Amino acid sequence: MGNTYETIIGLEIHVELLTSHKAFCSCPNRFGDIPNTNKCPICEGLPGAIPVFNDEVKGVATKAGLILNCEINDFSAFDRKNYFYPDLPKGFQITQFHKPLCTNGYLDLPSSGRRINITEIHIEEDAAKLIHEGDKVFVDYNRCGVPLIEIVTAPDFRDATEVVEFLSIVQRSFVYANISDCKIEQGSMRADVNLSVHRPGEAMGTRTETKNMASFKAITKAIETETNRQIALLEAGKVVTQETRRWDENSSQTIFMRIKEDANDYKYHVEPDLSPIVIGEDFLSEVRSSIPELPYERAMRYGREYGLTEYEADILTSSAGLINLYEGTIAANNLPKASCNWILTHVLKLMNDYELTLNPVSFAALVSLVEEGKISSNAGREILKALFTEDFDVYDYAVANSMLMITDEEQIRSAVRAALELEECSKAVSDYLGGNEKTFGFLMGRAMRLLGGKADPSIVGNIMRAELDTKK
Ligand code: ZN
Ligand code: MN
Repeated sequence: MGNTYETIIGLEIHVELLTSHKAFCSCPNRFGDIPNTNKCPICEGLPGAIPVFNDEVKGVATKAGLILNCEINDFSAFDRKNYFYPDLPKGFQITQFHKPLCTNGYLDLPSSGRRINITEIHIEEDAAKLIHEGDKVFVDYNRCGVPLIEIVTAPDFRDATEVVEFLSIVQRSFVYANISDCKIEQGSMRADVNLSVHRPGEAMGTRTETKNMASFKAITKAIETETNRQIALLEAGKVVTQETRRWDENSSQTIFMRIKEDANDYKYHVEPDLSPIVIGEDFLSEVRSSIPELPYERAMRYGREYGLTEYEADILTSSAGLINLYEGTIAANNLPKASCNWILTHVLKLMNDYELTLNPVSFAALVSLVEEGKISSNAGREILKALFTEDFDVYDYAVANSMLMITDEEQIRSAVRAALELEECSKAVSDYLGGNEKTFGFLMGRAMRLLGGKADPSIVGNIMRAELDTKK
């Protein structure tokens, strides 16, 4: 039955901004402090307290808007959203309703090229955090007034996979560009899902809003569960009601919270204590030039220019540390594929035990030495491990520890001859000459031992065959 319905999804994403101070006062914006230590009369909404806009917020929010290809409005303003709840001491939230900072953005999903339109991004303040313990509720005002942006997308998603792809790109981009730490588990990035189902060709269904998902996995499960719940209602001849629901991790269900408010329930009105935000051309181009090449853009370029797979490019761009290592490495050795392989197979493994402080230039030299056959990959792994705790010249280190491969053919030939002359080899040699080629491996082993294992076995093999042929 499910496949006869189409699912329509839009997102409202709240992202806490990385600023040193809160949006409208000088309290620190810091997660994890002792509850109710970072608050002041402005945070608490005491009578007579007047908010003052923190200019840091303007730059960070504008950067977010540019990353999501929005138009940045040269004039935007604050409004009061009125509602009564213990997490909101003023009785209203300062937000942007009539004139948001950013409008008309989009992001094209790399996997399909499908465009997700972004209706608007507005600035607002976070509310206090409510902590439920048994039948008691505690309020932590540290979060009151923390600057947020709310990204509102068009209902352009069709399934959970698209939603998670979009959210991962936003998350990685914002972390990389220092907009937010985007920790879903800690709530610094929160996605509310608006979802409805309908049969293609028929009118749109009634949508619900689902909140309270603390991971991409929970978002995926909530979307699937809510889709199935709505289809089951319609199939049973019932109706979907417009309401707000919350994801319950324990029961893996979406649970009714409240009937959905309409915008006019909030009686939005202009915030009289704050002046509008004005954005000029100079400011805009300054912010624009501060935006680095984003992780997902790099990932696509690695595929195009270096022939890396989607999987490889995805891992290399998963953190600033790996991006810096990879970019620094290939800038030094121009070996994009081999350097990628070394990071994926060896560096990641060592990162389980060590901090990533690897000097890209030393690492690049190491990859080159292995690629040029100057050291074995075993020696390379040993050197890599040492590089994780101390930086040094890789070539000097290889020389000092007699790790350089023997590439001189005459040196290899004399070792091969010496091996064939060994007492213990005489039977194997005559067996080989008599047609039993199985003894070749034994002879190779003796030659490799004389070379200390530091020669390319295929070169040693060729020389050995040639030497044995002269005895026939
Ligand atoms: Zn404050
Ligand atoms: Mn909001």
